[in-house]
Amino acid sequence: MSYSLMIHGGAGALEDLKYEASEAAFRQSIIAILEQGRERLERGDSALDVVEYCASLLEDDRLYNAGCGSVLNAEGKVEMDAALMDGRNLQAGAVACLRNIKNPISLARRVLAHGEHVLLMGDGALEFAKFCQIETYPDDYFITEARIKQLAEAQVAGRMTLDHERIKPSQKLGTIGAVARDIHCNLAAATSTGGLVNKRWGRVGDTPIVGAGVFADNETCAVSATGYGEQFLRTVLSKTISDFVQFRGMDAAAATQAGIDYLVAKVNGEGGVIAIDHTGRCAAAQSTSGLIRGWIELGGEAHCKLG
Ligand code: ASP
Repeated sequence: MSYSLMIHGGAGALEDLKYEASEAAFRQSIIAILEQGRERLERGDSALDVVEYCASLLEDDRLYNAGCGSVLNAEGKVEMDAALMDGRNLQAGAVACLRNIKNPISLARRVLAHGEHVLLMGDGALEFAKFCQIETYPDDYFITEARIKQLAEAQVAGRMTLDHERIKPSQKLGTIGAVARDIHCNLAAATSTGGLVNKRWGRVGDTPIVGAGVFADNETCAVSATGYGEQFLRTVLSKTISDFVQFRGMDAAAATQAGIDYLVAKVNGEGGVIAIDHTGRCAAAQSTSGLIRGWIELGGEAHCKLG
C-alpha cells in the first residue's frame, strides 16, 4: 500500500512569479510542505488529515493567496473561501467570505466534522468558529504590503484581477490546494483562497463549492482547482473531472487534461487543476502558462514544477 500527495500554489503566468518572489522560494516551499505531508502519510494518517495539514501550511506561507497573504477585495479587506472533502463518504466542509481566521481550511474541517451543514459563511462562520473555540486574528495579520500595492494597481486599472496579475494579459493565480491518497487507499481534497484581487464584497468563488473548486470520491479521484472561479463554477469542473474517471474510465492524466479542454472549449476558462486518481496516479493540467505544483507519487521522490 503506497501513498500519494500533490499540492498546488496557484496557476498563471510564470513571468509574473518574479513579481512577488523568486522561483527558488516557491520550489523550496513546495518541497518542504510535501516532505512534511509525507511524514504524516508514512505514519498512517488519513488523506483527510494530511490535506488539511498541507493546506494549512500553505495558508501560513505568505507566498500564496490564502490565509495570511490573501489578496484584498474592493474594500481593502481579506475575505477567504476554503473547502475540503473526504473521498470515503463524500463528507465535505466549507467556509466562505471568512475573516480573521488564521486557517480557514481547519474551520472547514470543523464544519465537516460537525456534520450538520456543508457550507457556512461570513458572520455565521465566525460564530461557529467561536463555538469551536477557534481563536480570531486581527486584520493586520492577513494583510501584506504587497497586497495593498496590488489592490491599488488593480483599482487604478479599474478592474478585477487574479492574484499576482500585473495588470496585463498574463496572469498568475495564488490559490492553494492539496490532494492525497493515504496508505489505506482513501482519497481527500482541500482548496483555500483569498479569491480575486478587487473582487466585490461578498463575492464567493469556486473554491468552497463542492464539485467546482474541490472534489473527492474514493471510486474516482481527488481534485483541487485554481483559476477564475466563475468559470470553474459554471463548468462544475472538479466533479466533471471525477465523472471523466467514473464514466469514461480515464486515469488522472487523461481526466485532468479532458477537464481543462472542456473548461477552455465551453467558457474559454483560465486556470489549472491537480488530481490523484484511485490508483494513486498524480496529474495536473492547466490552460495558463504556469501552475505551481509538487507531488509524491506512490511513495516516490518529491517533485516540483512551476511551468
Ligand atoms: N479560484 C479562485 C477564485 O476564483 C482564485 C484562484 O484560484 O486564485 O476565488
